[in-house]
Amino acid sequence: MQAVTRPLLILGAGIAGLWTALHAAPRPVILLTGAPLGRGSSTAWAQGGVAAALADDDAPALHAADTIAAGAGLVDEDAARLLAEAGPGEIEDLYALGAPFEKDGEAWALSREAAHSRARVARVKGDQAGAGILAALIDAVRQAHHIELREGWRGEALLPARERGCAGVLARDPVGGLHRLEAADTVLATGSLGGLYAVTTTPWTSQGQALAMATKLGAVIRDPEFVQFHPTAIDIGRDPAPLATEALRGEGAILIDREGRRFMPDIHPDAELAPRDIVARAVHRQIQSGAGAFLDARAAVGDTFPDRFPAVFRACASGRIDPRSQPIPVAPAAHYHMGGIETDLDGFTGVDGLWAVGECASNGLHGANRLASNSLLDGLVFGRRAAQRLREAAPRSIHAGHGAAAPVLPDIALQTLRGAMARHAGVERDKTGLEALLAVVDQLETAHGPASALIAARFVALGALRREESRGGHHRRDFPQPQARPAPTRLTLADLAQAPANRILEAAE
Ligand SMILES: Cc1cc2nc3c(=O)[nH]c(=O)nc-3n(C[C@H](O)[C@H](O)[C@H](O)COP(=O)(O)OP(=O)(O)OC[C@H]3O[C@@H](n4cnc5c(N)ncnc54)[C@H](O)[C@@H]3O)c2cc1C
Repeated sequence: MQAVTRPLLILGAGIAGLWTALHAAPRPVILLTGAPLGRGSSTAWAQGGVAAALADDDAPALHAADTIAAGAGLVDEDAARLLAEAGPGEIEDLYALGAPFEKDGEAWALSREAAHSRARVARVKGDQAGAGILAALIDAVRQAHHIELREGWRGEALLPARERGCAGVLARDPVGGLHRLEAADTVLATGSLGGLYAVTTTPWTSQGQALAMATKLGAVIRDPEFVQFHPTAIDIGRDPAPLATEALRGEGAILIDREGRRFMPDIHPDAELAPRDIVARAVHRQIQSGAGAFLDARAAVGDTFPDRFPAVFRACASGRIDPRSQPIPVAPAAHYHMGGIETDLDGFTGVDGLWAVGECASNGLHGANRLASNSLLDGLVFGRRAAQRLREAAPRSIHAGHGAAAPVLPDIALQTLRGAMARHAGVERDKTGLEALLAVVDQLETAHGPASALIAARFVALGALRREESRGGHHRRDFPQPQARPAPTRLTLADLAQAPANRILEAAE
């Protein structure tokens, strides 16, 4: 029995976990990263940059309005306003910390991305935003005296407090030992669930484990069905699939079929810069029809490609594609999770002592569709807000109960799950497919137990099954229209127990 007050545990060292850790000072932080610092994180791979109203012709109100429009009726407008207003200050602070954002003289160099009404994306060496930002954050964290780093330590389960809420984490060290780390406050910052899909741009280790962990303590999962598919992952058979950043389309690159015919102008007035879900569906249908989909940057970028988009150029080269002279084969890939662990605007989950920030969290900011390059900013703005609340949090005495590590899916079962998710919960869905997906999840659970990946997949499938409409990133073939009055999805572990053929609740208890 132990009364724990000040230490703060953070799981995850992407932009959200690191920024929260830095701003929690002087509160002592123990920072667990499932992989060595800089690895296993979507942040490192971000290409385009960070959206913020930095241009003379821009304003936070315009950024908020674009965010709300992109989210297709489900954006929490307070969250959008907070994000947009704090954006420019966050960029200034990151720049001061050493993140090498590009400038044109005194002004910021800004890219235009889809569904933004202004050029608004602050970039780093063309397509190196994530790597540049992460390097600056890692330097700062390594120098911060209030942060104790545990690299390669993986959170396996949350420890329930005997009183109520969360009392810390059961963590596995790099050589496999299990440790109970007790803490008054625990922050989940574990990123995406793209790794549940056969084709993804995120690290394949990002499988929504935090959703399974949090829901066992009573957290609500919000909008799990809203997964954003990036339309232009480079289709060269790599897992994860490398990305051809949207900034290429912002620079004028076009989408063509195998015959060289441009297909987006017939589909949307903004053509290649239409909202992501529309471009992703168009690319998906092109591929399904056999016509193929290619990103053609020959005229728009041409010989300047290696200098302006070095990461994409390297990725193309690994598949023997030269984008200066050849169109790039592309396919949609799971890229970003709009849904996640429900929080308020300060990252609080409603479960005492449990917080969530970054991509694993959902405060309604992104609604049904994330506006491009809003997610790094999400990690910054709401990470800082969570840190502020945590600095001020009243000490809390806790007595940790028992926590058990969830079973791990063997690789062959994981690949079965990833294939079924891509087939049935991908760019287009319907009732028959989603029920088939739930049946696959059920079979895998019978064979291997309630692994976290299965619980996370079941949230996506059930949310998608229950949302009988098409909206933002969620498109139902059998319900192609939006409903008049949208509402967020909110699911708990108990809801999963009522889903078809399901034994998760019994297993978790
Ligand atoms: C290829 C690509 C390009 C992108 N480009 C952009 C862009 O240009 N602009 C933009 O705004 N967004 C972009 N995004 C999205 C953006 O990068 C992510 O949404 C954002 O980086 C998520 O940050 P995060 O801190 O929440 O998670 P991550 O950066 O994914 O970090 C998660 C961390 O959690 C750790 N972890 C996971 N599980 C555990 C566990 N159980 N225990 C302990 N640690 C754990 C991981 O090791 C990692 O350190 C892109 C995403 C991808 C994949």
